[in-house]
Amino acid sequence: VTCFKGQKLALFGLGGSGLITAKALVAGGARVTVWDDAPKRISAAEAEGLPAEDLRDFDWEGVSALVLAPGVPLTHPEPHWIVKLAIEHGVEIIGDIELFCRERRHVGSDAKLIAITGTNGKSTTTALITHLLKTLGQDVQMGGNIGVPVLALEPLADHRIYVVECSSYQIDLAPSLDPAVGVLLNLSPDHLDRHGNMESYAAIKERLVAGAKIAVVGVDDDLSAQIAGRQDLASMPVWRIAAENPVSQGIYLEGTELKQAAAGETRSVANLSDIDTLRGAHNGQNAAAAFAALRALDLPEAEIAEAFESFPGLHHRMELVAKTGHILFVNDSKATNADAAARALSSFDRIYWIAGGKPKSGGIEPLNAFFPKIAKAYLIGEAAEIFAETLKDHAPLAMSGTLENAVKAAAKDAAKDSRGEVAVLLSPACASFDQFANFELRGEAFAKAVRALPIVNQSKE
Ligand code: ADP
Repeated sequence: VTCFKGQKLALFGLGGSGLITAKALVAGGARVTVWDDAPKRISAAEAEGLPAEDLRDFDWEGVSALVLAPGVPLTHPEPHWIVKLAIEHGVEIIGDIELFCRERRHVGSDAKLIAITGTNGKSTTTALITHLLKTLGQDVQMGGNIGVPVLALEPLADHRIYVVECSSYQIDLAPSLDPAVGVLLNLSPDHLDRHGNMESYAAIKERLVAGAKIAVVGVDDDLSAQIAGRQDLASMPVWRIAAENPVSQGIYLEGTELKQAAAGETRSVANLSDIDTLRGAHNGQNAAAAFAALRALDLPEAEIAEAFESFPGLHHRMELVAKTGHILFVNDSKATNADAAARALSSFDRIYWIAGGKPKSGGIEPLNAFFPKIAKAYLIGEAAEIFAETLKDHAPLAMSGTLENAVKAAAKDAAKDSRGEVAVLLSPACASFDQFANFELRGEAFAKAVRALPIVNQSKE
């Protein structure tokens, strides 16, 4: 990264992406001083030759920017001391995605950025867009919130396309984010702890599409639909996407078909019916967004439609772990809030539902429309009591305590069910931190417990 060559920078937050960012800046000729709250990380950075200094004692005179790791509270509830210091000294605060955008402009690269955000579906859509582009023979790099930090991707090259998942934290730190295509999938209450209220959360997400050359915006929820309307007023080309109702300009889902509407005409452009990795209306929304993003780059329609068929899907997102007789075992560990769990619950007709974990505000009341489909619920973790209170008059319950108990009990009950296809579904509507280090390990524990079941083992032989 050469855009800060010769300039003085402070960098705070030396987790994985912070360290990579610091090294990229130093390699590009910037004078970077680093710091962190954790002494261990500071020593690791020093071992890599990075100059560290307590930024409380730092000479802020002439500092061009504070580069901040996402995850340090910026606006709510109480800015971190480092944020206050930078503001006090009138120093701009930016993150690695901002550096990527500045560098692209600085070197005049024609590389394209597709930036993806939303409350749910970001990773799926990012992976899907990447898969489609690769299948169509494009030179693609995927990163950001989904894995590899942007500055650790292959260097800028003309014709290269960077598909980058952006959390609201990262958008917050990217004041001049200017993607070729900006995708906003949906907005629902989540992460309000950092952004305070829905308005400021939505305003941050809106910046990703406002800075884009072409916007792809989901209009199934009101807040995103309003954003699409505002971009129209700004004369920005907006592809609307929807999984619930038809749109007059853009891509929408009807049954399992993607339809394109433009200039008063509507036609079918892809069929998702046999694609297991794109089951459910929520995936219809993701597929519509991916289709629109590639069309926005003028890539050929028929080839995009065909490339959907080979999408391998992502782990822990409605992942079919096993199927025996009439039972599907589905790992949706990534559903850490009620809205994400709603997508899974809407995708099956009769459900043995494993839920619970570390509760989030709002609980599972918003899911009550799906309660009639729940054959039985198996509650785990800290949220078990609260969830039981909400569910008790609507569905049979078991207080299972652990995930393993829940899997065993659910499989036993599902095996006795004679009403056609049923799902044993882990879609917790909770964070995992009470019982697991992260949602991945929770999903793996589920898969392991499923594979250990006698009915699953036997059916393999
Ligand atoms: P993110 O990266 O935004 O957290 P993921 O693609 O990892 O999203 O999906 C997270 C969870 O949200 C999954 O459990 C999935 O079932 C659900 N989900 C996926 N796409 C959508 C969508 N478009 N709308 C709502 N929920 C979704």
